[in-house]
Amino acid sequence: MTAKITSGNTVPNAPVRAHIGLGGNMGERQANLETAIAKLDATDGIAVVKTSTFIGTEPWGKTDQDWFLNAAIALDTTLSARQLLETCLAIETSMGRVRTEKWGPRIIDLDILTYGDAVIDEDGLQVPHPYIPERPFVLEPLAEIAPDLKVDGRKISDLLNG
Ligand code: ADP
Ligand code: MG
Repeated sequence: MTAKITSGNTVPNAPVRAHIGLGGNMGERQANLETAIAKLDATDGIAVVKTSTFIGTEPWGKTDQDWFLNAAIALDTTLSARQLLETCLAIETSMGRVRTEKWGPRIIDLDILTYGDAVIDEDGLQVPHPYIPERPFVLEPLAEIAPDLKVDGRKISDLLNG
């Protein structure tokens, strides 16, 4: 029995199953999701194990922009949560993402949804991702690949239907 991870800097002693939410609404949306997934899988210490279908979704939060394509993946990683976040942010940047307005259009967004059963609340890193329960575009693809996954004690499939 290992202790629950509460720090982004904890390097696990065995691979951790994590889930990433992906989305984008600029350029070749499908190709961009595929590129981001391939880049994650090509990273040392990350193996992508499941990929959801890609779903088209209405913009959320800021609605006067193009529709998004969203997906979720499961991966196994020996990276710490902080290293995984830095990997995600580096892939976003390498693909040309520029951060302008909050919730504005983006080529690619990579969010850590869960990292094992870790609960992390640090500057710039919150796990599980705080908006999972209220975002259908996260819940829908995540329910496809991990219906029994629990977030805050509630199953993803129940959150989606509830
Ligand atoms: P959003 O994803 O909310 O549209 P951004 O992608 O611009 O916004 O992310 C802003 C910041 O959110 C990142 O720089 C990162 O430090 C922080 N952040 C906190 N928790 C997470 C997480 N679980 N996954 C990804 N980013 C996170
Ligand atoms: Mg993000």
